[in-house]
Amino acid sequence: MTTTGGEDVRWDLSPMYAGLDDPAIDADLDAAEAEATSISEQLHGKVADLDAPALRDAVERLEALSERVDKVATFAYLNFATDTSDPARGALLQKIGERSTAIGTKVLFFDLEWAAVPDERADELLRDPALEKWDHLLRSARRFRPHLLSEPEEKLVAEKSVTGRSAWVRLFTQVTDAITVPFDGDTLTLDEVMSKIHDPDRAVRHRAGAAVTAALQPGLPVRTFILNTVAADAGIDDRLRNYPSWVAARNLGNEIDDATVDALVTSVTSRYDLPERWYRLKAKLLGLDELTEHDRYAPLLPDEHKVTWDEARDIVLDSYGSFSSQMADIVSGFFGRYIDAPPSPGKQGGAFSHPAVPSQHPYVLLNFTGDRRDVMTLAHELGHGVHQVLAARQGQFNAGTPLTLAETASIFGETVTFGRLLAAETDPQARLALVAGRLEDIFASVFRQVAMNRFEDAVHTARRAEGELSTDRIGEEWMRTQRAMFRDSVRLSDEYSTWWSYIPHFIHTPGYVYAYAFGNLLALAIYARYETEGASFVPAYLELLAAGGSDSPNELAKLVGVDLTDPEFWNAGLTVIEHQLVEAESLAGVTVPSQG
Ligand SMILES: [Zn+2]
Repeated sequence: MTTTGGEDVRWDLSPMYAGLDDPAIDADLDAAEAEATSISEQLHGKVADLDAPALRDAVERLEALSERVDKVATFAYLNFATDTSDPARGALLQKIGERSTAIGTKVLFFDLEWAAVPDERADELLRDPALEKWDHLLRSARRFRPHLLSEPEEKLVAEKSVTGRSAWVRLFTQVTDAITVPFDGDTLTLDEVMSKIHDPDRAVRHRAGAAVTAALQPGLPVRTFILNTVAADAGIDDRLRNYPSWVAARNLGNEIDDATVDALVTSVTSRYDLPERWYRLKAKLLGLDELTEHDRYAPLLPDEHKVTWDEARDIVLDSYGSFSSQMADIVSGFFGRYIDAPPSPGKQGGAFSHPAVPSQHPYVLLNFTGDRRDVMTLAHELGHGVHQVLAARQGQFNAGTPLTLAETASIFGETVTFGRLLAAETDPQARLALVAGRLEDIFASVFRQVAMNRFEDAVHTARRAEGELSTDRIGEEWMRTQRAMFRDSVRLSDEYSTWWSYIPHFIHTPGYVYAYAFGNLLALAIYARYETEGASFVPAYLELLAAGGSDSPNELAKLVGVDLTDPEFWNAGLTVIEHQLVEAESLAGVTVPSQG
């Protein structure tokens, strides 16, 4: 195995605790438990009677309690992530999970009692300057109130959901995880055979695709029934709770209004010409007359260029530095102590940046092998890291960004870094492969997610209007919404009509998929603003990051002068994608002889 120079770059968790057996861990948990008991004794049943300063004091005590528990939980989790096979680490994680749940349960009453305070009284309290810092937190904690049922009804709904919705979700997971796929003499999992759809050999890809289709067949009536049931259950819920549309409850959860989601969806679906253009070009580059659904992920050219750890660090520091020296300083603060770089036995796969708690520095986990993709991942995770460092000053309750804004800094940093990597590559073939990889990542996170949102929209709407849907009826909507995106650039066979049926999001968290597109396109649109405004954009951007989750996404976006309900804003993000596509087209003009 080649060395990257990153083999010894391991993080140091000692700023939190000295080790697994540090007595401070139990001391912190005991103190937290005592504090939770004391809060409960003093405030349980009395939240409605608190005046504004007393309410502020209560929130601040709860915040300190939450940070104390979270610090222990963070340590246990990070410690576990670098060696998940070590039973001692697993046991600590489990123990802390159980203790923190017990502590959390003691103070659950606060949110419930606060949500029950009448609107007039709550408004009066929130007008008090003492609560200014907690205005958004306390308001958003009450946002489901207009949709709540009476207490005995809520109790009934919660109890029955164990054998209702949750049971269907679990059944789906069990039947889908149990799918095995006979392939070339082996028995593979669905994931394993799916990865063969990325194989350079077309015959392998097509055999894999056919094997997936065949494996999806036997359980299809069950999965059809589960999707129907989950959709019907959501319909009942929305009727009882007075939600105006199938996605309204999800939007409220995301603190995004329906008009903003509409603006996103309309903008993305009106640019389906972009994936179409790309897949047409891709067919040419692969020398194929037409692409089928199993050729979408075919690789153009393996990227064999290797990058050492030191080179990766320099590229990323330089990229952030080109944008803001403050950002580069924060990024350089991660190197040395707060990054765990190399793959190692038992270590969790993938990559993340963990915010830890506001009093501690965030930590980045990687599995760095020296591919150029890994440099992009490093830039991506450090973007999260910068965001987390800047937002930490908001404190435990206000630091965490909503899901839809969480990718703002990561995709931004990735985009700047990608530009540097591309500029440094001189071989036209390799440049094209880089741009292609980037485009396909963006398509997967923006266009594919919106196409899936259109599928969900169709299924939920049809289930409410038409009653129970057949497998064919669901397949029809799947094909219609997928074809709308690919247009004629990819020939989708009839067999593809069942490929909705293994996607867990439709069952686990209906309405969720648009959030991916939202976060990714928002980041690109903000990048577009930087491209036009240049250095003058930087201070407002840093202010946005530093605001963390202290306000709703729409309000936070205003800090950088953005109106999320304006389709023009989303179109700017789509234009960034178009520029990449034009780049690919012009590179292809250099490297590929035109056909015919
Ligand atoms: Zn991310």
